[in-house]
Amino acid sequence: MRISELFRQKKAVYSFEIFPPKINDDISKIYSTLDEIRDISPDYVSVTYSAGGSKNSRTAEIADLLKNKYGTEPLAHLTCINSDKAEVAAAIERLNAIGVENILALRGDRIEGEEKHDFAYASDLIPFIKERSDADIGAACYPEGHPESKNMVEDIRNLKRKVDLGVTHLNTQLFFDNDVFLNYMEKVRLAGIDVPVQAGIMPLVKKSQFGGIVRMTGAGIPAKISRMYARFADDPQSLEDAGVAYATDQIIDLLSAGVQGIHLYIMNNARVARRITQNIKPILDRINGEV
Ligand code: FAD
Repeated sequence: MRISELFRQKKAVYSFEIFPPKINDDISKIYSTLDEIRDISPDYVSVTYSAGGSKNSRTAEIADLLKNKYGTEPLAHLTCINSDKAEVAAAIERLNAIGVENILALRGDRIEGEEKHDFAYASDLIPFIKERSDADIGAACYPEGHPESKNMVEDIRNLKRKVDLGVTHLNTQLFFDNDVFLNYMEKVRLAGIDVPVQAGIMPLVKKSQFGGIVRMTGAGIPAKISRMYARFADDPQSLEDAGVAYATDQIIDLLSAGVQGIHLYIMNNARVARRITQNIKPILDRINGEV
């Protein structure tokens, strides 16, 4: 199903992001995660592409499994800055062959020595996909501004350019302070960007996340999270419990504010995804009129 259709059917769409196994790893490593995700039954699952420049080409393989074996709707990420036109065209063709109906068009992170110069921005990729596929095209947005942009005005102008090219929904970068997101949304709407926006939430449940991925995104860390880390960094179970509680509270507050969707960065941790889903599902279902 197209994600634009999901947004027509639901007041609050609920989805997960996963990453594919490394190219030389056994594909079956991901089966148990996919099994559990099918049980949890999110509205769709997005699959990263070459995240961190790993040249990981297994996005299509996982999207194929999701769509054609697990019956879970995939959103296939596609980046462009480190690929040439022929490589991107081949990736789109593969997604078409699988029957993928949703693609997240991304520039990708700059990796020294890897840039191919056929594409400069995600806004170059969007028309390229449109010429080759009739999938829904989503794009990324940044409640705290993209790290390379000079200011928020410029960043939102560039976002508007992507939406005007035909993007049907936006997924945000992860953030931990809901007020930052809600203020950002006012600016986005004032700029005339009317497509649905899903809030990106990453449960912080492992010590390694604090230094790595979170620092990379530049997300602001509220004092509450710093305290959580200081107290529980070396107590894995308490850190997971606290991280699940924080993400749950964040999501319920966003649902209270009328957010159109939650996109959970689950880092392939289906147990954490299940715990959070159990906490929020009764409210989510009532919002969507399912009970
Ligand atoms: P763009 O929209 O191209 O923006 C990049 C920068 O250029 C911004 O500062 C923007 O303001 C500026 N800009 C845009 N257009 C113009 C223009 N015409 N002129 C001047 N400046 C312009 N990375 C991966 O490698 N794989 C993934 O699977 C992946 N998934 C992601 C999913 C989400 C939801 C998010 C938020 C990010 C993801 N990323 C992923 C990271 C992403 O690739 C990086 O954040 C990247 O640096 C920017 O990608 P973008 O598509 O937002 O870029």
